[in-house]
Amino acid sequence: MNKEESRKGKVWLAGAGPGDAALLTVKTRELMGQADVVVYDALVSTEILSLIPEHVKMICVGKRAGNHPVPQPEINEILVREALKGNQVLRLKGGDPFVFGRGGEEIERLLEDDIPYEVIPGITSAVAVLAYNGIPITHRDYTSSFHVITGHARKGKELSIPYEQLVKLNGTLVFLMGISALSEIVNGLLLAGMDPQTEAAVLEKGTTAHQRRVIATLETLKDRVREAGIQTPAIIVVGKVCGLADEFAWEEKRPLSGRQILLTRPRQNISKLAGILRANGAHVIEMPSIETRTITPNPEFVRAIDSFGKRAEEEWMIFTSPIGVHTFFELLKEEHLDIRTLFCGAFQKQVNVRIAAIGKTTEKALETYGLFADVVPDTFCARALGEAIGKAAAKNSAATIFRAAIGSKELLPPLQEVMKEVDDVPLYETEYFLHPELKEQISDLLSTGKIDAVTFTSASTVKGFVKTLGDFDYSKVNAVCIGQQTAAEAEKYGMHITVSKQATMDSLVETLFVLSNEQK
Ligand code: SAH
Repeated sequence: MNKEESRKGKVWLAGAGPGDAALLTVKTRELMGQADVVVYDALVSTEILSLIPEHVKMICVGKRAGNHPVPQPEINEILVREALKGNQVLRLKGGDPFVFGRGGEEIERLLEDDIPYEVIPGITSAVAVLAYNGIPITHRDYTSSFHVITGHARKGKELSIPYEQLVKLNGTLVFLMGISALSEIVNGLLLAGMDPQTEAAVLEKGTTAHQRRVIATLETLKDRVREAGIQTPAIIVVGKVCGLADEFAWEEKRPLSGRQILLTRPRQNISKLAGILRANGAHVIEMPSIETRTITPNPEFVRAIDSFGKRAEEEWMIFTSPIGVHTFFELLKEEHLDIRTLFCGAFQKQVNVRIAAIGKTTEKALETYGLFADVVPDTFCARALGEAIGKAAAKNSAATIFRAAIGSKELLPPLQEVMKEVDDVPLYETEYFLHPELKEQISDLLSTGKIDAVTFTSASTVKGFVKTLGDFDYSKVNAVCIGQQTAAEAEKYGMHITVSKQATMDSLVETLFVLSNEQK
């Protein structure tokens, strides 16, 4: 970037694809993490918006919850204003920015102020929504061209579609923004001489968890669409290829198809679980209700390390989360402390250092640093951890717990029973923040039953979720919990609860599969 560009900022006109977050381009996905401001339309799905980091400014210019959309000239001014402040502005549009996306008009305005820009093409709904419904937009046996037509007239003007020319083309016809003019479009084609038996389709909310299709003939399409109660956004397709949909359909065959799952975890840990769920056809909304912030400088930590190994012949290090483990080593490094100092007690005497982890992922995190836990309880909860250590520990030993600032108190009594000293050291704080717009969308989806399950991996994720959403009817929430303690916390708010058989991520995924089968 040259100097001039950095002073002015820059605008990326990007397509977000038709809805499924897996259809974002790599470039748009990267920019979502780098932009200072995102200016987005109503068509951009909650699933996609949930991937934008908390610190990014989000400006909605689409129609939402009864509000009118921001008029185009005003959108143009927002882009210019934000770029002139020196911001990296991501202008996020549904599908492709140039396919009925008014991207051209925005560029004309940017050019006036000489603002640098790039265009990132997106996967257009005009092709992808058909594909997700098993309709190949062309097929050598049926059609050799396709035509994308707007079914929406400019303000104050009439719809002027050249039906006669279209009918002669014998190609696949794709109408965007055409649902309110469905009748007019069908009649236009019939009057122009198209065979009433021609295959046709209307595809609703394609590539999202709520995609539906109506396959009919030109003659029956209107009635079928009315019966099905199709709503926008939807696409009208006319052409022989529509007849292939039922045979070619694949999307609904995926095990988690049609499922929308909300993940509440620290963002650092979300992606693996999200990846597994997405690969099986689920739509995942990420709600990292917990952001962690390392406490630094941390005099308590320094003091704890200093006295570690000097209190008893057997000393325990206790970890209750992978983040706790990573933060522990981050702080050691920051203080320039060598792990070997921990194994050396007073007067350079070797101490028996024992290590406990609350569950498998914490155990794995320790292994990446060359430490193998001596104790991992069968059930993933603070009390079980305390009891397991209590059994294994020598009398008059000592322990230091390295964990979050507000950790469960239940861990302490079983330790205090056998040990002469237990030190509880806070390494990181948890913070809660969600964009107000995203909060509104998630609340809407939950209260209308459009989120099939919400996952919780610890009591603190439940607390974070509730703190973030605030006043809400939690009986609408289908909570899938790891461990009894997590479930107990969710129960406090009246959530509908399923507990995974084991306290592992694999077991959580399995539970979601079982639940999905039951819900279908
Ligand atoms: N730039 C967008 C299109 C914008 S026009 C693109 O390339 O996809 C908006 C119209 O697109 C809607 O009225 C609808 O006809 C269609 N559309 C967009 N996303 C859709 C989806 N997920 N399912 C069905 N139709 C969709």
